[in-house]
Amino acid sequence: MYNKVTPQIVDALRAIVGEGSVRTDEEALEKYAHDETVGLWAQPEVVVFVRSAPEVAEIFRLATRERIPVTPRGAGYGLSGGAVPVFGGIVLSTEKMNRILEIDKQNLMVTVEPGVITGDIHRAVEAEGLFYPPDPASLDSCSIGGNIAEGAGGPRAVKYGTTKDYVCGLEAVLPSGDIITCGGKRVKDVTGYNLVQLLVGSEGTLAVVTKIILRLLPLPKVRVDLLVPYDDFQAAADTVSDIIAARILPATIEFMEQDSIRAAERLLQKTVPYDDAAAHLLIQLDGNRQDAVDADMEAVGEICLARGARDVLVAKDTRTRDRLWEARRAIVDALKHESPVNHMEDVVVPRAEIPALLRGIKEIARRHSVRIVCFGHAGDGNVHVNALKDAMPEEEWHALVPVLSEEIYRLTLSLGGTLTGEHGIGATRRRYLPMALSPAQIALMRGIKDVFDPHHILNPGKIFP
Ligand SMILES: Cc1cc2nc3c(=O)[nH]c(=O)nc-3n(C[C@H](O)[C@H](O)[C@H](O)COP(=O)(O)OP(=O)(O)OC[C@H]3O[C@@H](n4cnc5c(N)ncnc54)[C@H](O)[C@@H]3O)c2cc1C
Repeated sequence: MYNKVTPQIVDALRAIVGEGSVRTDEEALEKYAHDETVGLWAQPEVVVFVRSAPEVAEIFRLATRERIPVTPRGAGYGLSGGAVPVFGGIVLSTEKMNRILEIDKQNLMVTVEPGVITGDIHRAVEAEGLFYPPDPASLDSCSIGGNIAEGAGGPRAVKYGTTKDYVCGLEAVLPSGDIITCGGKRVKDVTGYNLVQLLVGSEGTLAVVTKIILRLLPLPKVRVDLLVPYDDFQAAADTVSDIIAARILPATIEFMEQDSIRAAERLLQKTVPYDDAAAHLLIQLDGNRQDAVDADMEAVGEICLARGARDVLVAKDTRTRDRLWEARRAIVDALKHESPVNHMEDVVVPRAEIPALLRGIKEIARRHSVRIVCFGHAGDGNVHVNALKDAMPEEEWHALVPVLSEEIYRLTLSLGGTLTGEHGIGATRRRYLPMALSPAQIALMRGIKDVFDPHHILNPGKIFP
């Protein structure tokens, strides 16, 4: 179906991007064979580091002519295998396209290259009193290009939405080699189909994004974080619905089960208050007026205590706040540390269904005698469900994982939810796509893919079953 990368093709790539930006050594092929998805590995034949849209365009023309697959890659922190070159070929890395090109204080926009680390955008705009809200827990490692491709979310999605709500303009290179610019520094734009939003969340299967314009907000002046421990797992889940029903919109409502907190403590060698609690909520409130934030804090505290919270700990200073968030952000790594073989789902339901989802998942875990740890962005209905292999025999584990996935998806869909909230379909969930989308929807998406990429050279083996 695809051709192999020959020494002549490697030479042609060197002619496009320069000698030092093409790697075929074992170390590089190993490093670019995986992302952060457990158990998924496929070596590229060559890794190319691009610096500009015209370079990407030339690589596409070559790859189309030679029928070589091209897999775009940001920082390789994805959790659905999107950057893994499952058909070999070229890995096209944007990590050298890492410049923040402009912070436009008049229009409240920032223009960046795709390889910029998301946390660097946060720091750069915050230094100017501005705010880029999307905050994936991996923000100090992942790239903004990867965020665009995955439609990344994060804890603050409860109040501020996800990456898609901030992308105003994109420059992208199509597999044909055409360079297009969609949108711009405009708050409004209904000129033709919305190609910006078609590319957001397209998982690197339609085009390679080479420039990004993001909308910014003024940085909220007041922020307070609450850590709320519960002895009853379900009471913590019920509190999430209560807070939303009370018409209070925190910036975040994160849910962390005891096993996830304990794992983070062990990894970080630090303690979290009330680590014997069944579950914690980590709630952040923000705004511009201290009295308004304090009033919300009082109301949220009362709701939590009414649901049986053991305490409501308030972190007003940066040091305490950073300690809490360090533990939350370490959970994915900590669970890997606990059980190097594990399986993560990223299901999302309407937020009022969070209690039913968590109850159902516990029931699935009990039925299959497997440890399942839940944590994540409960405030926006998105829960990360981690099944840990622990000491289960290899064969039993491999037979169990697809059964677990299917049962978790069935439960989620029955609650009006869907397969993935922010990690994407990628290589790992594509066989389950027909559970969530109708044949007509999948056919429409395949049609869109064919228009953008008629020879299927761009990121094959992703999304479609
Ligand atoms: C510890 C941890 C915590 C995480 N927390 C969150 C979280 O809170 N929220 C969340 O949403 N995700 C989270 N993730 C998942 C991951 O970080 C995000 O999906 C992130 O957007 C990936 O960015 P990346 O640069 O690492 O992309 P990569 O893994 O390199 O690539 C991801 C996809 O994007 C495509 N791609 C990359 N760059 C481009 C480009 N320029 N043009 C076109 N396609 C491109 C790739 O082909 C691939 O399909 C977490 C991951 C880890 C390991």
